[in-house]
Amino acid sequence: MQLSNFHQQLFDNYSRYYESRVKYRRFKHQDLVVLLDKFKKNNILSNSITGKSYQKRDIYLLKAGTGKTKILLWSQMHGDEATATMALLDIFNFLTANDELNTFREKILSETTVYFVPMLNPDGAEPFERRTAQCIDMNRDALQLQTPEAKLLKQLQHDLKPDFGFNLHDQNTHYTAGATRNPATITFLAPPIDAQNTINDVRKRAIQLIVQLNQHIQTFIPNQVGRWSDEYEPRAFGENMQKWGTSTILVESGGYPNDPEKQFIRKLNFIVLLDAFYQIATQSYQNEKLEPYTSIPPNEKRLFDLLIKNVKVKDSVVDIGIIHNETTVGSSFYYSGQIYDWGDLSVFYGYEELDGQKLQVKEGKLYPQKLSVIDDVARLPIAELLQQGYLAVQIDQITPEQRTTHTLPIHIISAKEDFNSKIGEGKEANFFLTENGKIRYAVVNGFLHKVEP
Ligand SMILES: [Zn+2]
Repeated sequence: MQLSNFHQQLFDNYSRYYESRVKYRRFKHQDLVVLLDKFKKNNILSNSITGKSYQKRDIYLLKAGTGKTKILLWSQMHGDEATATMALLDIFNFLTANDELNTFREKILSETTVYFVPMLNPDGAEPFERRTAQCIDMNRDALQLQTPEAKLLKQLQHDLKPDFGFNLHDQNTHYTAGATRNPATITFLAPPIDAQNTINDVRKRAIQLIVQLNQHIQTFIPNQVGRWSDEYEPRAFGENMQKWGTSTILVESGGYPNDPEKQFIRKLNFIVLLDAFYQIATQSYQNEKLEPYTSIPPNEKRLFDLLIKNVKVKDSVVDIGIIHNETTVGSSFYYSGQIYDWGDLSVFYGYEELDGQKLQVKEGKLYPQKLSVIDDVARLPIAELLQQGYLAVQIDQITPEQRTTHTLPIHIISAKEDFNSKIGEGKEANFFLTENGKIRYAVVNGFLHKVEP
């Protein structure tokens, strides 16, 4: 077996370790507890409760390996950033497996001791919100320590004195790797220790490791890796961990086309983190120069979910940039399409793009008859309604889940809501695109549908 291409082998064999009981980002603390249960009596991965959240949910600490180099990872300090937590579950499966990757596994477990805190903010994960139950962003609480979650993380750093730290987050899916159309699917940062961007030995190790991780993960996402701003944030954990002596790496999970639940990005996290453990175990990162780190393009925000270019609106020609906002309902969510920007958007890109050279924007109408349930809509001749200029239907009984799951090319709202047909920056993304007076496309809640004549 070739020892140099661990990342490739992780990529090829990932399905073996994939924890299939969690597939959606909005899983809850209780789902995690059930999955961690199987590692209670494991002799490779020990599992203990290390603290409690503000609302008294257990926060777990898992430990693997017996080596002298210590690594601490924490995920989901922002409750709505769950991608890395899913990857940690896969990593637990990898570490406790017994197969032809044992050479790598044993090297990691003999040279390093890895500590994991999956879902550091379980109270935020419950409603799928960024902040803790005290409404505090715990990544701005590293100094004041007003939250039990921040106190716990600081205490762990103090007690364990990890050599390396991994601060695992999700970022906006509209970030790009530099001024390009490539989403920043993974973004790295070696957080700064001061406003002067000083590189001491602690931060240097983090930078050297990022250089290797970036090189390896680019195999699977070429030109889709970004570098987070190194503007100094004195209240954040990344900065303070680095100052407290732990070489810290921020890993942000961004966007990837057609991956709304971030399952491919979860796989990339799995590879990045295990690759990191192995590079730390073999100390191979120590040969890296620092320059390639600054060559990683900085994060920019150049992507919309849908970008419609060059359409006529009354007396002007504009581009329309649309994003899909998520509203959480229990373990599910629905999208609200919003016109985020309007005008000359020639420096931006879209996950989906339409060149509207010959197209004109037209307002849609509300279907005059109210319906009682969603099944009634499916019985309507929707194609005909669209051609007649109807874009929205009111329904007496609609659950938030139905908004999420229906795929009908017509905007469905409750009978209590008004349909606002106005088109412009900040408005809901519901309108038609016509060609020579005929309706060619419907933009319904931010999604593009072709209207067949
Ligand atoms: Zn975050």
